Amino acid sequence: MQRNRVRRVVIAGGGTAGWMAAAALSRTLGKYIDITLVESDDIGTVGVGEATIPTLLTFHRLIDINEQEFMAATHATIKLGIQFENWRHVGHTYFHSFGTTGRDHWSAGFQHFWLKGRERGLAGEYGEYCLELSAAMQGRFSHLPNNGINYAYHLDSTRYAQFLRRFSERYGLRRVEGVIEEVAMAENGDIQALVLNDGTRIEGDLFIDCTGFRALLIGKALGVEYEDWSHWLLTDSAIAVQTESVRDPVPYVRCIAGGADWQWRIPLQHRAGNGIVYASRYMDDDTARKILMNTIEGVPRTEPRLIRFKPGQRKRCWERNCVALGLASGFLEPLESTNIHLIQRGITRLLQAFPEIVNQVEIDEYNSRMREDLEHVRDFVVLHYHVTDRRDTGFWRECAEMSVPSSLRHVIDLFAETGKVYNLTNQLFAENSWIQVMMGQGITPRHRHPAPDLMGDPELKRFLDAISGSVSNTVSRLPAHMDYIRSYCPMK
Ligand code: FAD
Repeated sequence: MQRNRVRRVVIAGGGTAGWMAAAALSRTLGKYIDITLVESDDIGTVGVGEATIPTLLTFHRLIDINEQEFMAATHATIKLGIQFENWRHVGHTYFHSFGTTGRDHWSAGFQHFWLKGRERGLAGEYGEYCLELSAAMQGRFSHLPNNGINYAYHLDSTRYAQFLRRFSERYGLRRVEGVIEEVAMAENGDIQALVLNDGTRIEGDLFIDCTGFRALLIGKALGVEYEDWSHWLLTDSAIAVQTESVRDPVPYVRCIAGGADWQWRIPLQHRAGNGIVYASRYMDDDTARKILMNTIEGVPRTEPRLIRFKPGQRKRCWERNCVALGLASGFLEPLESTNIHLIQRGITRLLQAFPEIVNQVEIDEYNSRMREDLEHVRDFVVLHYHVTDRRDTGFWRECAEMSVPSSLRHVIDLFAETGKVYNLTNQLFAENSWIQVMMGQGITPRHRHPAPDLMGDPELKRFLDAISGSVSNTVSRLPAHMDYIRSYCPMK
């Protein structure tokens, strides 16, 4: 059977993945193709996923989303990074910030100069050389000229889906409410149509599976296997609860590690999102719920909700005429908030690869590029668990002692020996992120680049002080984060 030209795109599911795909496709290709999104209010969405990373700004620019309207509608606040508490050892805190730390020299990364400065007693804390980190710690924010401050958002995911729905409908997207009961297959093995509970049949040339963990198209109908990564990522359960705000929101997420778990705190304009992520082999649901409910601040606005997941990935995200995005394509775990980014990466790659007629070469290219992204993100997340001084519970001992992917082993060994991180320019997490987390989790490089030795103490001190002075100067002129939000994008 010949494949048709791609004229009808059907999106199954209306969570964050479905509506981001709908917004991007209708805004860019809406005049050329028919787009239909099917969702079911009865089934609902996963309802979490509220911390983002700076690449979301690029996505919004690509499709012309007005930032003030978006932030007001989703009750968003600013995120400048993540504070990790108790990850290296109980009582220790470090920060993974967006942006860059220090200034690179022609010869070597800033960390080499900082390490030498520490040896000589000339350097302050690593974070003093990072604008975003210093601003986060002082609870300040403002936009700066020339994108001078790197940031992302905390957002209300239900409101985000509603916002993107209004946006997409302006560009001609058709929304159908109903439960998908059957995925009808064509003779050649492609998907032909979605059949809803009222008998409606929605035919398409290309289908986008955004049905969340159900993976109705890519998993159930097409049988693409799931690759289990739980030997590297031990957590498999989460409980989420929303609370009333008790103070002005800070511009960062807190990730607080426990004995076999970690908790998130995501502050929005009107409330906070809280949750506990844990390994069910080491902690039962009741214990996790008690830890969460005993440590949250503020009155709960929702019942605590249990979510199970299996860390891993579909072997192929694009199979035949179906592309899976979001949870349908896989899920690592919430740490470092990478899933919305991976949705966006999948959408932009799909837009670039948008086929006139679905073909296997394009599918293979897409799958291998997505695979690279995923393995990079997986390695970065595993790093947080594996490099730790913690040995106080079975969970942490297993994390510290497990064998990790060889790609991650290489980055860790190289940094531990030389203080260098290479070749990450096209990757989501660049040098600044890896260095902050590796040092934060406790690696001090054994050697460093000799370039700083070319500087005498006075020159090195001038170099370091100029950077920290400029950072503290800029931060002192920024308004309080929440004052800025109140004037820039008060919630609607
Ligand atoms: P869902 O939100 O589950 O949407 C699925 C859609 O499919 C729904 O509309 C549903 O109604 C529809 N559907 C399903 N079956 C049918 C059917 N039979 N008929 C019709 N419709 C159907 N990501 C981040 O980037 N940052 C974070 O901070 C973050 N935190 C997370 C915390 C936890 C505990 C978890 C589990 C995930 C987190 N994620 C995070 C991931 C993030 O939540 C998801 O990537 C994001 O919400 C996208 O979900 P989705 O759209 O794929 O699925």
